[in-house]
Amino acid sequence: MYINVNVHWKIASDGLTVAKSGQPRYTPEQAIVRSQQFMTEVNTFSADMDDNTPWNQAFHGAPVTTAQCLPIRYLIRDVFFHDANFPWTSINAAAYEGALNVIIDNIPADGYAYVGGNASAIGFQHPSNFIHEFGHNLTLRHTHRGEDTFGDFCADTWWRCPEQWDADNDGTREYPTIDPSNPNEYPYSNRCWDDDNFGQLSSTQQQVDFCDNSLSGIMTTDNSIFGCSAQPVTNTVHPCCAQEYQSNYMMGYSGHALAPSKAAITPCQVERILTNIADQKCDYVDDVNPLCPPTSAVVTILPNVDFTDDCSFTFWFRASMNEDEFKVVIEDVSTSTPVEINNSGWINGTAKKYFCLVTTTASPGVIADAYLLPNTDYRITLETKNSCDTDSYSYEFHTANRNCNTSGGGSSFRIASTHPNPATGSEAVTVEFVLEESKQIEAMLFKVGNGGGQQSVQIALPENGHYPIGTHQLQLLPQQLAYGFNYLIFTVDGGHYYTTIVKQ
Ligand SMILES: [Zn+2]
Repeated sequence: MYINVNVHWKIASDGLTVAKSGQPRYTPEQAIVRSQQFMTEVNTFSADMDDNTPWNQAFHGAPVTTAQCLPIRYLIRDVFFHDANFPWTSINAAAYEGALNVIIDNIPADGYAYVGGNASAIGFQHPSNFIHEFGHNLTLRHTHRGEDTFGDFCADTWWRCPEQWDADNDGTREYPTIDPSNPNEYPYSNRCWDDDNFGQLSSTQQQVDFCDNSLSGIMTTDNSIFGCSAQPVTNTVHPCCAQEYQSNYMMGYSGHALAPSKAAITPCQVERILTNIADQKCDYVDDVNPLCPPTSAVVTILPNVDFTDDCSFTFWFRASMNEDEFKVVIEDVSTSTPVEINNSGWINGTAKKYFCLVTTTASPGVIADAYLLPNTDYRITLETKNSCDTDSYSYEFHTANRNCNTSGGGSSFRIASTHPNPATGSEAVTVEFVLEESKQIEAMLFKVGNGGGQQSVQIALPENGHYPIGTHQLQLLPQQLAYGFNYLIFTVDGGHYYTTIVKQ
């Protein structure tokens, strides 16, 4: 069963995505690509779990269950960018309904999720963590909470901890009392994992796996590497490190859940997931038991695109999933009868991006995927298909109300030289340009190449493209250039300037 997901990102003042300390950050372009990669990794991980049996159920008196296939896969419905101050909880909004919403964010925990809701936040960018948080959205709770009112409502997940040990670090080993009527005392001291919902442990001990030297990370899969000697317990060997007390539940805090060859779910958990989808999230389902993975068309714009002002912009399709072919259509929708002005036809391969230029010049001399008029309403539609599914996504926009002619654009910018040109396959090419005023510059490389299949690449510029007055150089490495024709296009003040580079 394929469930729709919206992936959300926040952009910091340096232009990169917001992330938890130590986690990767991305340019917006990379984040779009990464969104699709995350879902692909999550789906691969989910498929890999189907041979994994829960550990130690019999030892703890829980029903012994077989390996379960996790019947859920995820499909991107949309990608959103937000500013750095956007609170992650705001993705739990009407505008994003009809899909699970996940935001990559800088949060203290590895992840947060609304249990039974449709929003989660990811700090630790690992596929198992997405599956875990999505599991919360689909009503799963932590396996180590127990079974009943305060627990995870699944009898086939065990949760008890070892025999006596000094969990509260008072110097005495004791078997903890369990008082279900008092949830604040109930769970904290008799299990190997803790859940901060109960608030008994110090902040450094919450949400951790006690079989971890540092008390701040997650248990490794091999106790012999970390050992347990650094634990604040009087036991010589921490009881949680015994094999019988190790857990591989996806919905626990065990480090084993990070391994696709180990992480497991139970029949009760699968039933809870399916019940939640059937009762409350039917409209999130894209497809059930399809012959092949359904395709998803996604049109995204970068967060810095301003249609009211920009004379060129790129639509990004890279979050689209599972397509073998794609088609792009642009229509003028200024009047009640849409007029098709651009139709790519079906193109083999995966959808990447579409570069649009706003211009009133008939032959702008710059290669773009589409030429658009200023001050006009347009609709771009991406269609994707594979052997068993089609999808489409439409996006409406209004072009800038300004003269965006590509010739000219002022005389403050000039390309001085391109050398060597032609270049051999091993030579870097240096493009020298002159600015008579300090300017914000963008550079894009269109690789036409020898054999069709245009590719356009945004060139990362130092200082985000803020250049002072003077003569500057931009170097293109051999591996950046296609054999054959390449066009390096500078955008300055809405004007476009290009130089042709030939690689032989
Ligand atoms: Zn959790």
